[in-house]
Amino acid sequence: MLYDLAIIGAGPAGISAAIHAKRFGLNFVLLEKGAAGGQARAANLIENFPGFPGGISGQRLVDNFLSHLAGAGIEIIKCEVKKVCSNEGVLTVTGGESIFQAKAVIVATGLTPILLSEPPWMNVHYYPVPSEIIHKGKNVLIIGGGDAAFDEAVSFSKRAASVTIAMRSQKPSALQKLVDKAAQSGVIVKTGLSDKEIAKLAADVVIACIGKVLDLKIVDKPLLDAKNKRQSNLHLCGDAAHPDIRHVAAAVGDGVMAVERILQK
Ligand SMILES: Cc1cc2nc3c(=O)[nH]c(=O)nc-3n(C[C@H](O)[C@H](O)[C@H](O)COP(=O)(O)OP(=O)(O)OC[C@H]3O[C@@H](n4cnc5c(N)ncnc54)[C@H](O)[C@@H]3O)c2cc1C
Repeated sequence: MLYDLAIIGAGPAGISAAIHAKRFGLNFVLLEKGAAGGQARAANLIENFPGFPGGISGQRLVDNFLSHLAGAGIEIIKCEVKKVCSNEGVLTVTGGESIFQAKAVIVATGLTPILLSEPPWMNVHYYPVPSEIIHKGKNVLIIGGGDAAFDEAVSFSKRAASVTIAMRSQKPSALQKLVDKAAQSGVIVKTGLSDKEIAKLAADVVIACIGKVLDLKIVDKPLLDAKNKRQSNLHLCGDAAHPDIRHVAAAVGDGVMAVERILQK
């Protein structure tokens, strides 16, 4: 079967693209490797998404997105995409046993966490941390000094015995609002530490929030080159399209714009 569109990733960008594609009657698949909703799921409070004065938790916003998908009769297919390539104008998306052929592909796969080199702890989680991670009554160590580290710390402080943020820099680079919230939530902040000093800190749960990078290795190089020359039906959306601008509203807008570009072709 040849689909009009295959959407890879069911975060805010992919979900928005799917809702828009459905509205215009496109025949498409929406593929997701993990929990739908993407990174937004981990946000403690999203204050900059229109329509929610006072903000909304990432989890609630994602629940609303998923209800919207269900209401529109859109199914999310569980599939980790391993490869996207092009053959005579038809795009092939491969994941495990599944192969989907489509006239256009939207890659809305977000960003990949930067890994710690040689961590001393047995188990390190990388943000956003899945909700299955049990932290109730545990001592949690969060490495990093940006928005993600502080946002995770505030979330975890509700149930953990203690939450410590450790960073190399002399002061946090997170929004002051988040830093204040962490302080009010009893989070301990340790600044100006060397890697050796951080490695000596003991904890039951360790979470690294040391940045994210764009990783498009699933896309065949010739296809990516053609995309860069605007010669293909491959579209990047959300964080994957602009790794330095990480906002739900931007991702949602991208989903609509990519589908519009496909409809106009
Ligand atoms: C802790 C935290 C707090 C945040 N706070 C805010 C905030 O307050 N306001 C705001 O606007 N933004 C916030 N953000 C940023 C926001 O969540 C992201 O910008 C947004 O989720 C990006 O959406 P996306 O769809 O581009 O990517 P993502 O949300 O990353 O979704 C990508 C999806 O693609 C899936 N995927 C990846 N690779 C594959 C593959 N090979 N096959 C199949 N599926 C794949 C992933 O599993 C994921 O579900 C926050 C993020 C975090 C982590």
